Amino acid sequence: MGQSLERRRKKPEWPAFVDLEKFKGPDSQVYIIKDRCKECEWCIIYCPEEILETGEEINVKGYRPPVLKEGKTFDDCAECHFCELICPEFAIYVKVLEESDAEDE
Ligand code: SF4
Ligand code: SF4
Repeated sequence: MGQSLERRRKKPEWPAFVDLEKFKGPDSQVYIIKDRCKECEWCIIYCPEEILETGEEINVKGYRPPVLKEGKTFDDCAECHFCELICPEFAIYVKVLEESDAEDE
């Protein structure tokens, strides 16, 4: 059998030499392509800032894509792009907003 859910959800220890503050940029937004997600939760489990959680909405495949955790904002994102790298479905990505993007919003 696979790992228990509890073990699977256990937050990994991040190496002390990873200085997340160094990744922080001016502004970023995390995008999720909902219908690609298969609810593996890797992005949620491995996000060092713990800003994601499983949403309630169900996608076309019957899975629940991640959403921004209640009480968190995109300002909490370290822009480390790890969620992007680890997602097996290429369903999540981070875009660093340019000043012109911010004006559009
Ligand atoms: S880039 Fe992704 S993994 Fe990194 S802090 Fe932001 S949401 Fe979390
Ligand atoms: S890693 Fe990708 S497929 Fe897995 S829950 Fe996150 S967005 Fe969905």
